[in-house]
Amino acid sequence: MPMIDATGDTTAGLVLVADDDEDIRALVALRLRKAGYEVATAASGEEALRLARELKPDLLLLDVSMPVMDGHEVCREIQAQGPTAPPVIFLTARSHGSAALEGFAAGAADYVTKPFRPEELLARVHANLRAKAVRDALAHEATTDPLTGLLNRRGLDSRAVEAIALSRRHGRPLGCLIVDLDHFKRINDTFGHPVGDQVLKTVADRIQRHTRISDLAARYGGEEFLVLLLETDGDGAAVAGEKLRAALGAEPVDVVLPGGPISMPITASVGVACWRPGMSEPRDLFAEADRALYESKRRGRNQVVVASELS
Ligand code: GH3
Ligand code: MG
Ligand code: MG
Repeated sequence: MPMIDATGDTTAGLVLVADDDEDIRALVALRLRKAGYEVATAASGEEALRLARELKPDLLLLDVSMPVMDGHEVCREIQAQGPTAPPVIFLTARSHGSAALEGFAAGAADYVTKPFRPEELLARVHANLRAKAVRDALAHEATTDPLTGLLNRRGLDSRAVEAIALSRRHGRPLGCLIVDLDHFKRINDTFGHPVGDQVLKTVADRIQRHTRISDLAARYGGEEFLVLLLETDGDGAAVAGEKLRAALGAEPVDVVLPGGPISMPITASVGVACWRPGMSEPRDLFAEADRALYESKRRGRNQVVVASELS
C-alpha cells in the first residue's frame, strides 16, 4: 500500500500494467521501475483481473483494446469492489475518439493517450496514487477507534454487513462475542479516567492477541468490545469466548501512576451469539450477544453466557 510520508507525499506502490502489446508493456514497466514503482505485467484482460485479485496492486494501467476481455470490462470488474478498489488509468490510442469517455463511464480515474510521454504517464500515476493514499487514510481514520486502534462502531457496522452477506449467501457460520469489563467504573473512580484509558488499551491488545487474525475486533462502546468470529459456529464461539475471558483475567494490567507502577486485576463478562438465517442486520446479532452478556452480569460476572442456551 502506498503510504503518505511526513512531507505529505506518497511512497511508491505496486502498479499492474496490462497491454497485449509486448513492447508497450516492457516500455511502461521500465519507466515505472526506474521511477521506483514495483510493477507486475499482464498480457490480457483475464490475466490482469487474476493478478489484480492475487496481488492487490495500488493502481492499474490498462490498455483499452485487448482481445477477449477488453480494458473496460476489467475496469468495471475491479471497480465493483467499491470504494477500496485501486484506481485505473487507461492507455488509449489517440484514434479512438470516444475511448476516454467510455473509460470514465467504466470507472476509470484517468487516461493517457498512446504514444505517451513518459513524464506525463509518471505524473498521472503519481497523482492518482497520492489521491488513493489520502482516501485510504481518511477511510481508515473514520473507521478506527483512536484510543485502542480497533475498529470503531462505524467500521464494525460496515464489516458486519459484509460478514452477514457472506453468511446469507454461502451459509457460513458467524459468531459474535460482546466483552464487557467488570466493575470498570471503580477503576475510573479510584485512579482517574486516564488510568481507565490505559487499562482499555491493554484489554484491546489482549483481545487482538487472543483472537484469530481473521476475526474482527471492535470497540463497541466505552468499555465494551465486540468480536466477530468469521467461519465460527456456536460451539466454536463459546470456546473462543471462554478462551478470551480466561486470557483477559489471567494477569493483572500494569499501569503507570505518578507514585509508581501498580498492577490492577481485571475480569470481563462475555455474551456469545451466532448468526441465524432470520437475522438480517448486524444489530439483530449484536442484540442477542448483548442479551447473553446481560445474563452473565446477572449471574455474577466473569463468565461466558451463550444466547442460544437462554430461554
Ligand atoms: P459492570 O460490571 O456492570 O459492567 O460495571 P461497570 O462499572 O463496568 O459498568 P458501567 O456500565 O456501570 O460503567 C462503565 C464505565 O466505563 C462508566 C464509564 O465511566 C467508563 N467508561 C466508558 N468509556 C470510557 C472511556 O473511554 N475511558 C474510560 N477511562 N472510562 C470509560
Ligand atoms: Mg462494565
Ligand atoms: Mg458497559
